[in-house]
Amino acid sequence: MSISSAIKRISDSLPDGVELVAVSKFHPLEALREAYAAGQRAFGESRVQELTAKAPQMPADVRWHFIGHLQSNKVRQLMTVDVDTVQSVDSIKLLRLLDAEAARAGRKVNALMQLHVAREETKFGFTPDELIAELTPEVVDSLQAVTITGVMGMASNTDDETRVEADFGAIADTHRRLAQGVMAGRDYFRQISMGMSHDYHLALRHGATMVRVGTDIFGEREY
Ligand SMILES: *Cc1c(COP(=O)(O)O)cnc(C)c1O
Repeated sequence: MSISSAIKRISDSLPDGVELVAVSKFHPLEALREAYAAGQRAFGESRVQELTAKAPQMPADVRWHFIGHLQSNKVRQLMTVDVDTVQSVDSIKLLRLLDAEAARAGRKVNALMQLHVAREETKFGFTPDELIAELTPEVVDSLQAVTITGVMGMASNTDDETRVEADFGAIADTHRRLAQGVMAGRDYFRQISMGMSHDYHLALRHGATMVRVGTDIFGEREY
């Protein structure tokens, strides 16, 4: 299937209000341009160097989402680009640093707090209880350039759909607890970014507002 027909098929299958982020990491510019021509505007990249190389070569109305692990020594470089959302904020220290570097660069950036609910050991992110304990009003109110617009997470990499659904349920539940807690009254805290090519159909059942799809659009990546 072509990139443009994949985008149309997936977009048409998403409920109203659910945003498709096309994960273009490791794919060449021609692939991104084909997606753009099909109407796609939100793109996800996982490496700072790759995003900062691609961004200037794409139209200015692309909304870039950073979805990979962000090392502190790369934040300043990332802020040379007009990044819409950093989806992978996995510590309060990184949140504060991102805020400082965005302010320094004169940018406004959305952030999603990354949750770790999958059973894999190596994934980054807060456990639900850690995030609820660490994201205090003091932290939220101190931000100048960053807006926390929601949470992001991945389900366990397994064929066991019960487990995958439990993980998505845990992500959505953490969003709800925060929305009723520290983020109460902050209407912009509405994003639940979860679901990839193989499991976004399950994420939608649990209230995903944003899905991150790579392989189903662009085909296999070559690492
Ligand atoms: C690569 C990646 C995706 C897309 O995965 P596909 O299986 O290719 O759809 C989504 N989210 C994150 C965080 C990723 O790193």
